[in-house]
Amino acid sequence: MRQEFLTYGIPLIEEDDIAEVVDSLKSNWITKGPKTNEFEKQFAEYVGAKFAIAVNSCTAGLHLALVAAGLGAGDEVITTPMTFAASANVILHTGATPVFADIDPVTMNIDVDQVRQKITPRTKAIIPVHMAGHPCEMDEIMELARENNLFVLEDAAHAVYTKYKGRLIGTIGDATAFSFYATKNLATGEGGMVTTNNEALADKIRIMSSHGMSRNAWNRYSAAGSWYYEILHPGFKYNMTDIQAALGITQLAKLERMQGIRQEIAERYNEEFSQMPELEIPPEKEYARHAWHLYILKLNLEKLTIDRAEFIEELKQEQIGTSVHFIPVPMHPYYRDTFGYQKGDFPQAEKTFERIISLPLYPKMSRQDAEDVVDAVKRIVEKFRK
Ligand SMILES: *Cc1c(COP(=O)(O)O)cnc(C)c1O
Repeated sequence: MRQEFLTYGIPLIEEDDIAEVVDSLKSNWITKGPKTNEFEKQFAEYVGAKFAIAVNSCTAGLHLALVAAGLGAGDEVITTPMTFAASANVILHTGATPVFADIDPVTMNIDVDQVRQKITPRTKAIIPVHMAGHPCEMDEIMELARENNLFVLEDAAHAVYTKYKGRLIGTIGDATAFSFYATKNLATGEGGMVTTNNEALADKIRIMSSHGMSRNAWNRYSAAGSWYYEILHPGFKYNMTDIQAALGITQLAKLERMQGIRQEIAERYNEEFSQMPELEIPPEKEYARHAWHLYILKLNLEKLTIDRAEFIEELKQEQIGTSVHFIPVPMHPYYRDTFGYQKGDFPQAEKTFERIISLPLYPKMSRQDAEDVVDAVKRIVEKFRK
């Protein structure tokens, strides 16, 4: 057994990352400035989008995209129950109502047939979430959205490297929001990016990300700028800083290498865990390039004498940190009480929730760390199989 506890998730920060941040600190531009502009340009090129707007979180990006799309009171937005609360909270922030459509239990992504059933005359948008880094069935979602005139906002918090049918996530929906939170595949501490090919939408998002102001600080205070600005809307304070963008630039440059390590660890886990009938490994559909943000193991509980909570406790005894992604949003007290959700309303999400464990998976892990996870999981399964 391991001597030291294996932390569930940590970023890979190297000398180049540190040097770029120090360069920001020495440059006098510590908030949004040249590095943020450069990171936006590089990120847009990377995903192949016409526009990219850097923000201080994915949550801010999701919120801005909904505001820019004109969402508000009386509107309904469909999303998945199997996501982080932010995907639904932002709907409420606009005054609109979140409506949940149950998941496909295999991919854990939103089930397009369930979305179809939840569409009403008030439905204005869909927020699909590319769970764990596995893409949603975007062709089907886009077709349904076009038929019903719905805005599609992709929550790509897990999907910075994900491809759907050979195409990088970032240009399929009307807008896409990425997260650069500390544990995500590309980490700037806090941070996010919205990409879109729609110029009018990009302009609105950009203006709303900085108080609704007609000119941002870089334009105003640089040599090319002027002191004059106008407030066009009551906007938000959601911009990225150059300290974050410094990390964004160096992290994007090493994304391919970091993804290679994630892929290797995920393949090693798959190789071992696919041998055990007590476990179900994460799927990779033929249309997917998985970004392996999360490695979500599903327990076949009927073949085990312990439940998921006990399995997590056993892993902890083995010095392995884990997490659970996610507690279905409608099960949280606010959502449950406000919307009156009951057990059984989202049967697939609820059943899946009972059997999932996210294992450590990040580029800072060593091969030995991954072997320790494999050995621990195997020991627990052997001890508690029926
Ligand atoms: C992390 C996460 C977010 C929020 O990202 P932030 O950058 O922390 O705001 C949104 N959606 C999902 C699915 C996430 O995992």
